[in-house]
Amino acid sequence: MSLRIERVPTLRDNYTYLLVCEDTNEAAVVDAPEAAPVVRRVEAAGARVVKILSTHHHPDHSMANPELAERWRVPVYGHVSDRERLPGFTHGLEEGDTVSLGRHVARILHIPAHTRGHIAYVFDDAKAVFCGDTLFAAGCGRLFEGTPEMMWVALHDKLGKLPDDVRVFCGHEYTESNLVFAAHVEPGNLAVQWKLERVREARARAAADWHDAAPEEMTVPSTIGEERATNPFLRAADVAELGARRAQKDNFRG
Ligand code: FE
Ligand code: ZN
Repeated sequence: MSLRIERVPTLRDNYTYLLVCEDTNEAAVVDAPEAAPVVRRVEAAGARVVKILSTHHHPDHSMANPELAERWRVPVYGHVSDRERLPGFTHGLEEGDTVSLGRHVARILHIPAHTRGHIAYVFDDAKAVFCGDTLFAAGCGRLFEGTPEMMWVALHDKLGKLPDDVRVFCGHEYTESNLVFAAHVEPGNLAVQWKLERVREARARAAADWHDAAPEEMTVPSTIGEERATNPFLRAADVAELGARRAQKDNFRG
C-alpha cells in the first residue's frame, strides 16, 4: 500500500503535488496555480484525478482550481471559512476532518496564521504532511492574517507534534534563503550550516526555468526531524522569540 508523491514545479518557486494511490490509481492535486504543467504530469502518470486539495486561498496556490475541476469534474477542498474566496471551492474542511484518497486518508489540521483559513493535510500512514505556506523548510510563512501566537500554535502545538520521520511538503522552494536567515539568527547551529551547504550544492544546479527543475535541485521535502534541528521558528523558545524572528525575517536581506 503506497502513496506516490510527485513534485510539480509551478510559477517561479511554487510546489504543486500530485498524489497517486498506487493500489487504485486514484490521484489528488495539492495546490494548483497553473493548469498546463499539472495536466501534463497527470497524463504522463496515467492517473485518475478525483480531488483537488487546497492548503489556502492565495492565487499562487489555487488559481487553476476552477479549470482543473472542470476538466476532471472533481471537487475542490479547502477550509470552510474560505468558501467565498478559494477559487473553485466545493467542499469545506475543519480541524479533525478526514479526506480519503484511494486507500489513504489525510487528517486535517487547521493552522491559521499565514491566512485565517490555512489547513494542512496529514497522511499518517504515508508519513507526509502538506503544509502550504505555514511551515517551510527552515522557515515559516508571513503573518498576513494572524499573530505570532497563532503561528506558535500551528508550528509547536500542531505540525511540530508530528513524528520526526514525517516528510514536510511545503508550498515554495525557499530553503536556501531561509537557511541563510537561520544561520544568521543561530550562528552556532551546526545542523543549519551542514544543511545550508547541501542546499547550496543542490540549488547551484538549478535550471534557468523552474518549470524545468530536475529532482536534484529540489530541496523539498524536508522532514519534521530536520525542521526541529534547523528551523528558527520551530526552534524559538517562546511566542515572543518567534514573533521577533518573524519580524526580523520580514526585513532581512541575506
Ligand atoms: Fe500564501
Ligand atoms: Zn504561496
